Amino acid sequence: MTPRRKRNEPTEPAPAERERSGQRRSLAHGVEGEARRRIEVRDLLFGDFPQVTPLNPDFVPGVKRLKMTLSISEGSANGGISEYVEALTGFLPSLSFHRCCGDNSLKESFFERDQRRHCSVKEMDGGVDLAHLVEHVLIDVQHYIARMRTCSGVTCAWSTPRDCYDIFVECVDEKVGRTAAGIAVDLVEDLLAGRRPNPRYLCLIQAARVACDHSGWPIEPRLGPLIASWGRPLVGEAVADLRSNGFLREARVSFNFSGRPLLCFVSDEGTESIAP
Ligand SMILES: [Zn+2]
Repeated sequence: MTPRRKRNEPTEPAPAERERSGQRRSLAHGVEGEARRRIEVRDLLFGDFPQVTPLNPDFVPGVKRLKMTLSISEGSANGGISEYVEALTGFLPSLSFHRCCGDNSLKESFFERDQRRHCSVKEMDGGVDLAHLVEHVLIDVQHYIARMRTCSGVTCAWSTPRDCYDIFVECVDEKVGRTAAGIAVDLVEDLLAGRRPNPRYLCLIQAARVACDHSGWPIEPRLGPLIASWGRPLVGEAVADLRSNGFLREARVSFNFSGRPLLCFVSDEGTESIAP
C-alpha cells in the first residue's frame, strides 16, 4: 500500500508473464457510456515484475503481482480528490485502515502532502492522485474478495506519455486481481462523472467473495444470505457479470438436474470439485 511516484519508461514484462487484452466492459453497470471514460485500462498483466520490488519494502517475496497500466485524460472533474477519498472511504470503510507512504493513513497521504514520509510525490499531481486512488481501491476490493492477509502496491507515473501510470499490486489469483481492478477503475470513473458509488458494486464484491470462499464448488447453493440482503435480481446480475468477465465458469459435473448451468470460481492453484 505504499505508492511512490517514479517517472519512468514503461517496463517490459518478463517472458513468463502472460499478456492479455486490456479491453473489457464495465462491471456492475456502474459506468455508462464507454466513450466518456476518462480512465482507460491500456494493459493488464500478471507476473513477477521484480523491477518494482525495491519500490515498496512491504512487498512479500515470491508473491506475484498484477500490473495495470492506465491512461487518465484530463477533463473537467466533478469534485476533487478529497471528495473522492471521502466518498470511497464511506463506501468501503476498510480503506480507513490502509497504511500508505510509510505509515500514513490514506487521508494523511492525500490531504497532508507536506507531512507524509517516504513518498516521492510532494507536489500536486492530479493524475498521480487518481491512479494512486485506483491502486488503493483495487487493493481493498481484492483484499476483501480473496481474504488476503496483506496486500501491498505501488503506483508509477510514466515520463512519456505523461498521462500514463503503472499500478502494481500483490495478487494471489489473476482472476481475482482482474475483477478487483475492473471494479476499482469503474468506481473511480463513476466519481469522476459525478455519480455516487453504486451499491451494486458491494453485491458484486460480496458474491465474488462467496465464490472465492468455495473455490471449485457451485456458487448457487451458497447465495441464500446474499439474496436475502440484496434480492434475487441484483444477485443474479452480479453472478452474470462475474461469469461474463471470466471470474465464474461453468462447473463440470456428472449430473445436473437443475436445468441451469452450475457456476463456480476455480482458483489458479485449485482443482475443481464435483458438485454434490
Ligand atoms: Zn498509498
